[in-house]
Amino acid sequence: MFNAIVLTREEGKTQAQVRALDEAELPEGDVSIRVAYSTLNYKDGLAITGKAPVVRNFPMVPGIDLVGRVEESSHPDWNPGDAVILNGWGVGERHWGGLAQKARLSGDWLVPLPEGLSPRQAMAIGTAGYTAMLCVLALERHGIGPGDGDVLVTGANGGVGGIAIALLAKKGYRIIATTGRIMESAYLLGLGAAEVIDRAELNGPGKPLMKERWLGVVDTVGSHTLANACASTHYNGAVAACGMAQGMDFPATVAPFILRGVTLYGIDSVMVSRERRIQAWNRLASDLDPLRLEAITREIGLNQVIPAATDLLNGEIRGRLVVDVNA
Ligand code: NDP
Repeated sequence: MFNAIVLTREEGKTQAQVRALDEAELPEGDVSIRVAYSTLNYKDGLAITGKAPVVRNFPMVPGIDLVGRVEESSHPDWNPGDAVILNGWGVGERHWGGLAQKARLSGDWLVPLPEGLSPRQAMAIGTAGYTAMLCVLALERHGIGPGDGDVLVTGANGGVGGIAIALLAKKGYRIIATTGRIMESAYLLGLGAAEVIDRAELNGPGKPLMKERWLGVVDTVGSHTLANACASTHYNGAVAACGMAQGMDFPATVAPFILRGVTLYGIDSVMVSRERRIQAWNRLASDLDPLRLEAITREIGLNQVIPAATDLLNGEIRGRLVVDVNA
């Protein structure tokens, strides 16, 4: 038997509880894993509370991330004892996920835990941190280097935002962080932001083009904020859009793209190729300052996950939540 968060759907409502499951109930897969840690991401919050139709079939064990050791494998790449990470691929949405002590899934979805990262650090990073890295890689591929111009990070107190700041600061970028929690400015400056601005400056309807303020953007909130971020991006700058914490809408005009040559990159972490995942994880292992990572991390046990999911969606969690599934 093992413990897991289990989601069921009754009369149109998602019910979440911690339950003991039999290993025989695990879904099909060629690799079985003893999970060490999982995390709570925004998408997990949506799944657990049922606030958005993230979960495709019930009953579901949520958790889009996990780290652990292989117990059994018939996959050619993996042997018992290997330390592995899983992010995305629909796990926790269509296939049972990481908020459990055991998982069984496809070995094709796994990447090795990189040298230099502990299992706990890997989940402090999780999908949020690995998505932040994908955004930074997009800005780098665009040719934006430290010293070229400022980089705006939106939703700065969130998981993606905090790790994006820590990653960019380590490389020497000058970062402008935007937040609804201006009282957390000291925390954001400590992570490496040079300037903190109130999100009220960006989250209402704006003009097609505004004063050029930054060369690059990591946007985690979408909606008017993304539109205004694009409208304030320097000539030939780039915006990496990964999130929708403010909204799915994008009330913008084409002006920044056709008059200032701004490029908008869409960042998806769920189906991204294995090669790019491994590149991102190796860069996280080398670029992320462990002290800054620890500063944004709080650990909880499986029993605390369900209330924490509501807090996360209410914007009350700062940084990252690591879940010790064995606590
Ligand atoms: P968090 O909940 O940790 O952070 C989101 C942050 O967004 C909040 O902390 C808050 O920051 C800000 N925010 C919340 N509500 C609003 C609002 N109404 N208007 C403006 N800002 C708001 O989530 P994550 O960092 O884990 O994820 C951020 C986004 O990225 C989510 O939308 C998530 O779905 C998406 N995501 C997408 C991925 C992909 O593959 N594309 C992968 C991972 C995440 P503050 O208090 O500083 O204002």
